[in-house]
Amino acid sequence: MRFLRLTHGGIDYWAREVDASTARLFDGAPYAGGRETDRFVPLRQDAILCPVTPSKIVCVGRNYREHAKELGHEVPKEPLLFLKPPSALLAPGAAIELPPQSERVEHEGELCVVVGKTLKRASRADGAAAIFAVTASNDVTARDLQRKDVQFTRGKGFDTFCPIGTSLETEPGPLEALRVVTRVGGVERQNGSVADMIWPVDELLSYISHVMTLLPGDVVLTGTPAGVGPLLPGDVVEVAISTVATLRNTVVAAPA
Ligand code: ZN
Repeated sequence: MRFLRLTHGGIDYWAREVDASTARLFDGAPYAGGRETDRFVPLRQDAILCPVTPSKIVCVGRNYREHAKELGHEVPKEPLLFLKPPSALLAPGAAIELPPQSERVEHEGELCVVVGKTLKRASRADGAAAIFAVTASNDVTARDLQRKDVQFTRGKGFDTFCPIGTSLETEPGPLEALRVVTRVGGVERQNGSVADMIWPVDELLSYISHVMTLLPGDVVLTGTPAGVGPLLPGDVVEVAISTVATLRNTVVAAPA
């Protein structure tokens, strides 16, 4: 099933995609016990919201060998974790704002995993069983600030630096069969296989849950394949997870 969030009559709802032009409203988040209502609404692109409202956004750095290499890094011996603030979330179709503090903002197309159960010190099997859905995400990064600062908070944490969506796919099939493809202006920049992740998703969920409790609706951005590159005002950037999720955003200079 495909779930999304939309605004209708001034109220925000979770909904299930019925077809390309219709959605069925839910009375709460589907990953937290929300149930189907009998209300059907037209699916308008300009009404679509970010499909998650997580307590935290956990990210994994350097989870693909070729990407670690292109940034001149060794492959880490354990997963490298960092957080993005929920204030960075951005709806599909909305504009990524390039901040004046940075001269080099880059796209990082990533598989986004949405957690459906509480996970604390979980095994890999429990981690696998807690995957609610997957979608597309863009771990937008001010590369110059990431390099300059000791840690990633500023370079990865600007408002609009975490587009996620468009919909949550609960039946994506085997994750290792998925590809992460990023296009800018229709030109392919990244095309990596989830099978090439250094740490697969179940292992990441277990590893993270030994540090912090993962709650239903939390998201994990699982790392980016090789091919990261700059975003410029006027660009349209698209991240596709095979055919299961597509996320498109425009790029603008942040308003002064
Ligand atoms: Zn990333």
